[in-house]
Amino acid sequence: MRIKPWVRDLAVYEPGRPLEEVAREYGFPDAAGLIKLASNENALGPSRKAIRALRQAVGQMHRYPDGGAYYLRQALARRFGLSAAHIAVGHGSNELIALIAHAFLEPGTSIVMADRAFSVYRLVARLYQAEVIEVPMRDFVHDLDAMLAAIRPETRLIFVANPNNPTGTTVPPGALDRFIERLPDHVCAVVDEAYVELLPPRRQPNSVQYVRSGRNVFVLRTFSKTYGLAGLRIGYALAPKEGIAAIHRVRQPFNVNAMALAAALAALDDEAHVRRTRRMVARGLRQLEAGFDALGLRWTPSEVNFVLVEVGAGRDLCEALERRGVIVRPMDAYGLPRHVRVTVGTPAENERFLQALGETFRERGTGAARE
Ligand SMILES: *Cc1c(COP(=O)(O)O)cnc(C)c1O
Repeated sequence: MRIKPWVRDLAVYEPGRPLEEVAREYGFPDAAGLIKLASNENALGPSRKAIRALRQAVGQMHRYPDGGAYYLRQALARRFGLSAAHIAVGHGSNELIALIAHAFLEPGTSIVMADRAFSVYRLVARLYQAEVIEVPMRDFVHDLDAMLAAIRPETRLIFVANPNNPTGTTVPPGALDRFIERLPDHVCAVVDEAYVELLPPRRQPNSVQYVRSGRNVFVLRTFSKTYGLAGLRIGYALAPKEGIAAIHRVRQPFNVNAMALAAALAALDDEAHVRRTRRMVARGLRQLEAGFDALGLRWTPSEVNFVLVEVGAGRDLCEALERRGVIVRPMDAYGLPRHVRVTVGTPAENERFLQALGETFRERGTGAARE
């Protein structure tokens, strides 16, 4: 087959391992006893309002979805003080990243991203044969000044994940304002806020104002993390009308399915679920941090539902934990072979993970710190 060389040679994104896959591999009778802390999913599950909406919607599944996502875009427009023309919906925010790349990138263009930022940016840029300019982070935080300085005449997109996955870090308040202010006209910023609703409300950056004032920016959000709907695949982009119009041209007419639209609309209304999730995450972070301290492990302070922790040989540790029925994420794809990323679970899941971690270290006779 004559596959395009840049497609043939493209790295494949390695997702968190599904529970059933690990159960099959290690001979567990089923996935019920296993825990997955590998994909930053919401350990509380979907909002009950979303589940009710899904039950109601299921009888209409012979119909195509509303390709214009009318009700959801209206609800989002009201929430953010924008119009529906500022909003596009995608099959997860991952699809929106790919659609933005589709609209902006071609051979001879480039993107700027941080070296430890979400790896999907790099993959989609390569898919359109754009060059990837990687800028080192400082203490696992985006170095926005260095990123601005790395922009070249052919640069089209600059990506900032805020908070960032896998580091869990957020840029200092005010820094993003200055960054957007100084952005040259030929570059569009993609501010990926997949975890923003998990921050305490007073700490949430006000990126929507950039869209309102017509800046060259896409703000990306998702229902996968805080809202607990990762399995349905739905996210959205907020951007000036010209940017959204471009997304509508490159997307498929029914890119978001009807179940996802119904659930997202209901979940958006479930503030109580969001608050419960925030509380669980804050408590779980403290629990994990205390556990890491007790084992003498270095971790990166996080404000969201995952933590990057230095453990020594990360991939080996993941395998040892999987044998004990606990799935976490290796980080070698991010150039961090000595780290793993752990999603905050329920208190019981966190406890079980910490126990398995302690056992693994005792079995090897090492903690990372003592290696
Ligand atoms: C999880 C994640 C996404 C993608 O989520 P979708 O499920 O595709 O909406 C996007 N960006 C970051 C930084 C993420 O961690």
